Amino acid sequence: MNKKRILTGDNATGKLHIGHLVGSLENRVKLQQEYETFIIIADMHSFAYPKYVDKPEIVSESILQVTIGNLAAGLDPEKTHFFPESAIPEIYELAIILSMLTPHNRALRNPTIKEEIKEKGMGDNYSLGFINFPNLQAADILCVQADLVPVGEDQLPHIELTKELARKFNNTYGKTFKEPEALVGEVRRLVGTDGNTKMSKSLGNTIYLDESPEALKEKVMHMYTDPNRIHPTDPGKVEGNPVFIYHDTFNPNKEEVSDLKERYTKGTVGDVEVKEKLVSALDTYIAPIRERYTYYENHIDEVKNILEEGVITTKKEAKATLELAKERMQLPKY
Ligand code: ATP
Ligand code: MG
Repeated sequence: MNKKRILTGDNATGKLHIGHLVGSLENRVKLQQEYETFIIIADMHSFAYPKYVDKPEIVSESILQVTIGNLAAGLDPEKTHFFPESAIPEIYELAIILSMLTPHNRALRNPTIKEEIKEKGMGDNYSLGFINFPNLQAADILCVQADLVPVGEDQLPHIELTKELARKFNNTYGKTFKEPEALVGEVRRLVGTDGNTKMSKSLGNTIYLDESPEALKEKVMHMYTDPNRIHPTDPGKVEGNPVFIYHDTFNPNKEEVSDLKERYTKGTVGDVEVKEKLVSALDTYIAPIRERYTYYENHIDEVKNILEEGVITTKKEAKATLELAKERMQLPKY
């Protein structure tokens, strides 16, 4: 029997961070034995953001960085198909088809689209391509007939739309697409180092997967904590405090964490000690990932080969899906 499929991926908008790890990468790694896994590096999606539309060099470099990030997190290149979105034009064709089934109002109401316009300070300066972002994502997913999509919480509205479009297409033209399910990671949305509710490549509040020990220390020591706590003797707030959220997520020494929490609440521990312990926990957590990251950075040809092979496999699948969809729509074949 054929294995079930995963399609997931990342924008080509910079390097991957620890939010990706707990939101989606850890699930990808866990499930790669059980599912045939397709990882898309969404380079075309990246041009949907005003910040990157005139930065092709960043998008281009990010394709390699994002692939390396996935490999460093533990995805097995022997089993996983990695591909840049732009290498599969069938996806664009399918996105146009799907856009015929997407109510215009529904596209404008998408909560993640609305949130990103605000969070990323787009004002009125967003493109039609940005509003069409979820449709293009639906085409990414449906073109390989994915069963499961491991994502962070912010992506749930897009997966919901994908399911709806698959159902609508099937009902209108005949059974063509699988209806995929979303799978959210253990941490649905990791906060940023600045206290923003989401760590995000585009917001500059990240800890990267290959962060050097020095940069890691610098970032953690400058992290946002309880803004009302001025002196180490002031009772502090643990709940919602990003430093403690990271301790809960990345520090396996639960005793240490609960001791720090207790003393922080009472005002008997300084921020410096709490942060130094976090630096040490995070460093241990990312050390093996950083090591694999460095390996692939020094073996870029290997990374390019992995992408080339992934494109060949994905193209075959996408072509077959698109052909079927067009046949169902009774479009002529010339
Ligand atoms: P951008 O700011 O360019 O949108 P991003 O940091 O949001 O970048 P994406 O490439 O959009 O990263 O997201 C890739 C995957 O990682 C998605 O499934 C997304 O939900 C997940 N993800 C991103 N940031 C977080 C986070 N802070 N916590 C949990 N999951 C996250
Ligand atoms: Mg994002």
